[in-house]
Amino acid sequence: MARTCVFCGATPLTKEHTLPRWLKSALPPGGSRALHVRETESTRVQHVASALDATVKIVCAPCNNGWMNRLENEVRPFLPDLINGRAVELTPEDQRALASWSLKTMFMFSGQNKHPRLEMLPLKDCAAFYRDREPSRFMIARIGAMEPWENDEGSAMVEFVCPQYSGPDPTANPTYVSTLRIGWLLIQLVRAGSLNDDQVLAPFDPHPMFHPLWPVGATLTWPPLRPLPAAQMAAIACPPTLPIQVA
Ligand SMILES: [Zn+2]
Repeated sequence: MARTCVFCGATPLTKEHTLPRWLKSALPPGGSRALHVRETESTRVQHVASALDATVKIVCAPCNNGWMNRLENEVRPFLPDLINGRAVELTPEDQRALASWSLKTMFMFSGQNKHPRLEMLPLKDCAAFYRDREPSRFMIARIGAMEPWENDEGSAMVEFVCPQYSGPDPTANPTYVSTLRIGWLLIQLVRAGSLNDDQVLAPFDPHPMFHPLWPVGATLTWPPLRPLPAAQMAAIACPPTLPIQVA
């Protein structure tokens, strides 16, 4: 069966860069590595690729060249500053664009993993995102600044980590924590599995290392008061319990 666009359901599919080519000028020249890690309770898949050359074939050309491209243009004025750790003021409209761009990019990273057993790309979430073009009421997101790090294998400029917190029922709504770091910029999005119609997700607790990003708030100045320690990436990206509450 032909695979269809994860957003609109159309065929044929075209190759889309996981990270847009225009980011090339914002990342250090040559050899920028991307590291993405997907975790379930029992499995850990780690994949290292070039940050800018990786492609994924899960969307159609009209989506790729249309609304997804417009999303790129919306974040283009400030995303390179965030990646390079330069102070940025983010208006509510900027926050909306950045949260939406991040979710789109997280979907692209999710779709890159070819391992069928770990196909976690939440199709339900893709359809809702295509309809609304922004994160859903089941999601909250926050933004921090993390000093780029180096280890024995060199530096990874881009990291994507997305542990699942869902139970074994594949028909239930997915629950996950998705963390994307590009240079200094770190965005974390939490997707709660289920909410009653009258329930909303409580905002993140105030934190010296994070600003809330979604739902959108008042104009904020990035970076937050304190940077996130790079050594805590695993603890931040894979918290032992889901860092959300229902209000
Ligand atoms: Zn499409």
